[in-house]
Amino acid sequence: MLGAIIGDIVGSRWEFNPTNDYNFEFFSNENSFTDDTICTVAVADALLKGRDYGESIHEWCRRYPHPMGGYGGRFAGWVHSENPQPYGSYGNGAAMRVSPVAMWFQDTQEAKQEAERTAACTHNHPEGLKGAAAVAEAINMAIHTCYGKTPDEQTDLAGEIGIATAYNNKYDHDINIDAVRNRFDETCQGTVPVALYIITESTSFEDAIRRAVSLGADADTLGAIVGSIAEHIWGIPEWMKEKVRTYLPEEMLDVLDRFYDKVGYHPDREIDFDKFMENCINWMLPGLQFYYRDTDAIDNADEIYKVGETIRAGFFIDVTTKLLRPIHKTRYIIASAHVAPFHEIKDIVEKNPAIAEWNLCTLHYNSYFKVMDIYKKEGVTQVFLLHIPENMARLLREDFNMDFVDEALGENNSLKAIARASLDEKMKMDVHPRSLDPAWCERMEAPVGLTAEGDFFPLEPLPDSATKAASLGHSIRKMANDVDVEIPWKKKTN
Ligand SMILES: [Mg+2]
Repeated sequence: MLGAIIGDIVGSRWEFNPTNDYNFEFFSNENSFTDDTICTVAVADALLKGRDYGESIHEWCRRYPHPMGGYGGRFAGWVHSENPQPYGSYGNGAAMRVSPVAMWFQDTQEAKQEAERTAACTHNHPEGLKGAAAVAEAINMAIHTCYGKTPDEQTDLAGEIGIATAYNNKYDHDINIDAVRNRFDETCQGTVPVALYIITESTSFEDAIRRAVSLGADADTLGAIVGSIAEHIWGIPEWMKEKVRTYLPEEMLDVLDRFYDKVGYHPDREIDFDKFMENCINWMLPGLQFYYRDTDAIDNADEIYKVGETIRAGFFIDVTTKLLRPIHKTRYIIASAHVAPFHEIKDIVEKNPAIAEWNLCTLHYNSYFKVMDIYKKEGVTQVFLLHIPENMARLLREDFNMDFVDEALGENNSLKAIARASLDEKMKMDVHPRSLDPAWCERMEAPVGLTAEGDFFPLEPLPDSATKAASLGHSIRKMANDVDVEIPWKKKTN
């Protein structure tokens, strides 16, 4: 919320006098709050009072009838109407005022629904609703992932948040920033994707605001949207928090302070671990299948992989639904419910029939696995990996055992026992022709989670934006329904 207000005030001076100077004066005596701040404060006030968003926005805007930059044409009509009705707008006003709901509602789906409600009183066009929901989603994602991280980690996450939000909301993420420079576009669909793109490119709160404002576009509103997300990625420098207060009237400061007192995550919020584990189980188990991958690249898998450790794939992991007796020294048996089944996709198989012959499935390079078991039999070492959600790998690292998975499976079920029985059975079978196919063997060659030097990949996920494989990565995530689990929060009990 405060990030939106800062972005608005910093950008206010350049709304109708655009600049491309990145080093513009951040706060000057020509800056002022505009409609973006008024509407944002109105939404926060509605939450604090439990009242209708539309009524609150209407009332606050009428209290400030002539803010710097004024109100947009049809919105001005709505403000001045005695009986205001939604008017099908898809203006970016839907997206700039939404930040308080994304802070208030911890559950992302709930935050998105509520975001649509903040838009619906005026911007009830599908693009207006979507713009509000998308910004709320990005903020919520940042709240759930960026607190407590180092600045470098936050910058990496910014890349993911921007891309993931664009992807989840079906916005184009490949923005040509030169094509939108100096173009005043006040639609949601023309502003929100640009804001998300700026987030992915930015390296700090101030950098994000400078990029947004100096684009020469709708400076205050783009600044507000970018600022509302950036606040929860990098945090706001203390000097800015103090400075911005000098631009705000007492009654807005009062709402701001009461709002932050109420939703302040830090000292009084903690992860609801029971709910989190439930989310993880619901991610891991429904649709769980075993996949296979064999290699001769290592002959000491039992020394490399340690039961209980968490590893990251590091590269796209090709696996198959079926292999029989191993002819390689190491067999990976991977249990996953989030694998992209390339062999089921007609277009792909038409281009490369081998994909069907291999029953090829692929896991994303930012897939995380728990090493569940190492089992040796007749010269073959089987490494059993369970695919776990990224947030689980991040939050829990090695500090948990996986007994709860067997408990969730029910009595007399043990994934480890199933994996061992698989190798026992397969040792009695013939070799599957796939195991003899040189092209397939080459695809399976690299050991899961290890670099060419034989070290484990760092656990920190590779930002999608940093790789040429980003679009393949997105397809895999989509096909595999590989969306991370949510982190549920609860009020701390002392
Ligand atoms: Mg404005």
